[in-house]
Amino acid sequence: MKIELESQNDLWMDNAIVNFCELTSSIGADVSKNPSKITIAVPDSDKFAEELSQEILRRTVPNLIVDDEDKKTKAKKQVKKDHILIQENKKIGGEVSLKEKIYDKNESREILVDILESLEGDSKRCVFCGRYFKKNVKNLQQASYPFVTKIKSLSGVRGLSDYFKDYCPLCYLIGVLEWLDGSMIYRTFPADRSYLFLPMMNDLVDLNEFKQYYVDLLGTDRYSNIKNPPMDGPEYTPGKCSTLLYFYEKFFEKISGDGDVCSECSKWGVIEIPLSGSVKNPKLNTINIPDHIVGLVRSMVKNDYAPYTEFIRNTNLLKLEGGIDFDETRIFREKISEAIINDDFGSFSRPFLPRKKKRIIMRKEAYEALEELLWQWRCKPMGIEKDDLDTIKSVGNIVAAITKNNVGLLYKLDKARNSKEFWSVMREISRKLVGKDETDIKSKIRPTSLDSLVQLVKTNEDDWKEVRDLLIIYSSMYHSIRSLKQGD
Ligand SMILES: [Zn+2]
Repeated sequence: MKIELESQNDLWMDNAIVNFCELTSSIGADVSKNPSKITIAVPDSDKFAEELSQEILRRTVPNLIVDDEDKKTKAKKQVKKDHILIQENKKIGGEVSLKEKIYDKNESREILVDILESLEGDSKRCVFCGRYFKKNVKNLQQASYPFVTKIKSLSGVRGLSDYFKDYCPLCYLIGVLEWLDGSMIYRTFPADRSYLFLPMMNDLVDLNEFKQYYVDLLGTDRYSNIKNPPMDGPEYTPGKCSTLLYFYEKFFEKISGDGDVCSECSKWGVIEIPLSGSVKNPKLNTINIPDHIVGLVRSMVKNDYAPYTEFIRNTNLLKLEGGIDFDETRIFREKISEAIINDDFGSFSRPFLPRKKKRIIMRKEAYEALEELLWQWRCKPMGIEKDDLDTIKSVGNIVAAITKNNVGLLYKLDKARNSKEFWSVMREISRKLVGKDETDIKSKIRPTSLDSLVQLVKTNEDDWKEVRDLLIIYSSMYHSIRSLKQGD
């Protein structure tokens, strides 16, 4: 027989088709692909079921289940990963037993034989793929399609249960096996939720190539799977956008050695799975990263200034009474990552603003990577020269000195709604400077820098906000450095 899988334009199912293609290729099946269809030759169904079940069981640990130990007794036990939406039976001897028999060592082969035998016929038609089939093996459930609770088109005149039965054995099979997909990126907060990332591409051949190219960047740890070489474990990115940003950095690091190897994907389906509650209602969001941001990350990685690895990961929020504020640091890192991924410079500058009793500190390499990021992301496209940037920095020093005991002015700068309001705050700062006689200010500023800033904004009238945001970042950085030095 032949198994034909046509693209369904559905995030889960298309990724599942490509995963099934990879799974069957790995047992030596004859697979042919075109952009909208994958065909698998099955000359001997018994042999196919036998070999496929072996491969499924071989991958179940560690892709779905990991080895762990009991906190109290230290006895070895298995744990199902938090993002896997397959129900469990009670553990026997510390071993996980999943309710889907396809993952059970005693029943997997039998179920596969049943699936293959239930295909050919015309008594039913699948609501997913449109295929006619003999009988259904499993109803449509979350284990094979996570969004089952969300399908509006299924709540028609007929009872829901009728539709749940119009689900062909093949859609069940590929859907339930998608959990084995080693190229599914995941990130779990132990107390909160899991994020799953799946690439969205219409062309099945491209999707397959992309996933195969990056799959070895991923490990199998319980909570997170983007590897962090040379460490032994994964990188614990603080959230959704930092995970994607870090992924692209690893991806481009790999590509830089190989040249252009596959089409890149910049559109992702992000499935959010809550960890609490008996009914897990996953949310699906789409993140579409602008091409020039993907290009920016690529160019930064090429120059050894990877934004997450070099800058974000090396930046911390320090409590003035001492010690790093880990919660605030995580929030800061995620917000900065989010602003980059969304190409939102205004949101990028805001987290730098000074806050009560905490200061941003960064290592030298982080500061250098930040400067390069500001340069490539903002200054270059706006036509700002290095001299102009020096002007902004110099004014940043003035603003930092003036706002040392008056942070409100920095916030006022951030809230300016138009260039008039911006100038009004700048004049206020300038007036305060006249009365100051601090040698440390005078040594760091160019006397003409305020005039130069006026000139710079006049020539970039439409981009006044960008100049303002650059100024806020530098002022806040210098503010932070000053207050740490003086310990106030
Ligand atoms: Zn189907």
